[in-house]
Amino acid sequence: MTFTQFELAAQITQAISECGYEKPTPIQSQAIPMALSGRDILASAQTGTGKTAAFVLPALQRLTVRSTQRGIGPRILVLTPTRELAKQITDAVRLYGRHMRVRSGVILGGMPYREQLRLLSSPVDIIVATPGRLIDHLERGKINLSRVEVLVLDEADRMLDMGFSEDVDKIAAACPPERQTLMFSATMDRETSRLAARLLNNPERIEIAPEKITADHIEQRLHVADDLSHKHRLLRHLIDNHDVRKAIIFSATKRDTDSLAVELKAEGHSVAALHGDMTQGARNKTIEAMRRGKIRLLVATDVAARGLDVSGISHVINFDLPKAAEDYVHRIGRTGRAGASGIAISFASIKELSYLERIERYIGKSLPEEQIPGLEPVRPMQRLSTRKSGSGGINSRYAGKRPASAPARNGKPGAAGKKTWGKPRKSSGPVVVYRPAASDMN
Ligand code: AMP
Repeated sequence: MTFTQFELAAQITQAISECGYEKPTPIQSQAIPMALSGRDILASAQTGTGKTAAFVLPALQRLTVRSTQRGIGPRILVLTPTRELAKQITDAVRLYGRHMRVRSGVILGGMPYREQLRLLSSPVDIIVATPGRLIDHLERGKINLSRVEVLVLDEADRMLDMGFSEDVDKIAAACPPERQTLMFSATMDRETSRLAARLLNNPERIEIAPEKITADHIEQRLHVADDLSHKHRLLRHLIDNHDVRKAIIFSATKRDTDSLAVELKAEGHSVAALHGDMTQGARNKTIEAMRRGKIRLLVATDVAARGLDVSGISHVINFDLPKAAEDYVHRIGRTGRAGASGIAISFASIKELSYLERIERYIGKSLPEEQIPGLEPVRPMQRLSTRKSGSGGINSRYAGKRPASAPARNGKPGAAGKKTWGKPRKSSGPVVVYRPAASDMN
């Protein structure tokens, strides 16, 4: 499917192509034609699926036709739980509506009333609002919702969690009953279903399953790193000595992403950076270069890599661990796509211990630790179950006896079949790798 198939106004398709979007995302493919037909929609879709454009584009299309209603109130009203989301939606309206004359504004709690009253005293096309402050204006008679043609409830489940149920009902009651209502929610439970039953009229159901990742065919490994320079040495060893055909290296910040890419480039690797500060066009170009095999290493932040679909990624390397465990699963799902096998390697420093534990709890197992001879950590990491066990600490627990899971020190696999890489280490103290059992993690 292409965007042209939606037959949107030329100003809108031009803006989309300037964003560098090649084709609609699944939620857009399903929701846009439905919304254009005037039907109510009940969609389960999460952030990151492209859901904002799924309701903003049809809303803009509606604005290309003059309103038959007199008055100055908004024609499109978007309710959203948080100011961050409100800002993102307003940005999307400006971006996709940049070639049109669209008057839009935000109504948020915690902001001066004066500015909002000024906004509401002149004609406006689109209002993005959090329910609490909008109710204030409604009750004071400062906003008239009788011109509303489309009511969008974005992240409805979160609005209900935040206690906005009554406010949303009141706002909907102030809009004309013949309006179109589009409801988006990451989850659908009894509460959201009830809200939908109250506010939607025979809605079309759209379900976009969150990206399902079965990690069975992805081999996951962990390297404990003493510090940043240790991480750099581990990374170099891996990309120089292993069969890393195409890899994504995840780093925590945009700045680190850029500097790591610059360093790797200086060392002669074919590499590019990918992060949220780049324009969508530049991101797409980079991804296309990766797809075509022109880039071997992509250094990326989570924001840019979500949903990235490039086949043939042999390795995902977490140079920094993600704070959110879900992001770990998203990241490793970049490899092993379409049934292929893949390897996900994570580096963890002591500062990242809590992230590691969060990830292990989330995936329900511990990441097997590996060591590269000559690049072992000086300080082993005490993981969850060793800390639970009390005083002794890792080395004292195993002093004098080498557990089956410990790496062999002769370069051959250890007793547990563990792999070690590279040349044998010449002189090092006893290094013990502790791998807690999955059951220890709960
Ligand atoms: P959302 O789920 O609406 O928060 O969108 C997530 C991200 O996807 C945003 O950065 C959008 O700019 C981007 N996006 C939306 N639609 C498309 C598309 N069709 N192709 C590529 N990126 C898109």
